[in-house]
Amino acid sequence: MQPTVYRFTFGGFEIAMILDGKVVRDRLHPAFGPEHSAAEAGALCAANGIEANRYEHPFIPTLVNTGKDLVLFDTGNGFLRRDYEHLRTRLDDGHLVERLGQAGYRAEDVDVVVTTHCHPDHIGGLADRGRPVFPKARYVFGAAEFDFWRRGENVREARKFNRELFVRLALPLAERSSFIMPGEELTPGIRSIDVAGHSPGMLAYHVESEGKRLLIWADTCVHYVMALQRPDWHLDVDDDKDKAAATRKRILDMAAAERIFVAGFHMPFPGLGMVEKSAGGFRWVPVSYQLNL
Ligand SMILES: [Zn+2]
Repeated sequence: MQPTVYRFTFGGFEIAMILDGKVVRDRLHPAFGPEHSAAEAGALCAANGIEANRYEHPFIPTLVNTGKDLVLFDTGNGFLRRDYEHLRTRLDDGHLVERLGQAGYRAEDVDVVVTTHCHPDHIGGLADRGRPVFPKARYVFGAAEFDFWRRGENVREARKFNRELFVRLALPLAERSSFIMPGEELTPGIRSIDVAGHSPGMLAYHVESEGKRLLIWADTCVHYVMALQRPDWHLDVDDDKDKAAATRKRILDMAAAERIFVAGFHMPFPGLGMVEKSAGGFRWVPVSYQLNL
């Protein structure tokens, strides 16, 4: 048995990290650091006690109950595996709704669904066969992100299928959606931060209640060793690789300097930790009991 829900109080808010699913993928390199040698990547893995040839890739949406609004950040994979043969080995079935139940909520309870960016594993759970999975929610997308995918211009080859998914899953929600700019307040205590690079308009969210602060950084870092210890290294799924690297360093610097908690969609479950500076980069420090107190 492995845990799939981690819920804690955070100032006046209550937050739950929910494991939508996870997959085991082959070979961190060359997905991470194609411009570096396999030996260099292998040495980094060995130094951290992880395998270079196999890694766990989790998908962890964050649910924030502000007392006024139940806000869900990203919807995971939903039914993508069921609907698309070629995604069967790459993604996991979406377990978000069933595990929301374990956290004490129903899909109907969600007031706001926020999509940090429109990559498949973040929009997959928005709709099931044309029906919204969260029937009572309003939807929030980053304005630049939504606009990029809606226009569908300059979509790189590897993201053409992603565009199709956007058109099927996200675009029909446009009339129920609001489009947020970097730095804008989503609801009292929650504000967006520009983290474009991994996708054209990705937004992170800064959550603050009674002096406690959490950064929901979406896919700013996609692996807890590779992305933190080598933030400069390119990553195949970053849409603008140089910009993504610059964003990573800016956000890691901020998280380390301000010593705030981070919720990372692809960090090891429960996806919570802090960032420390270390030689040549940063280090992920997983949460221990801090949030239980
Ligand atoms: Zn992702």
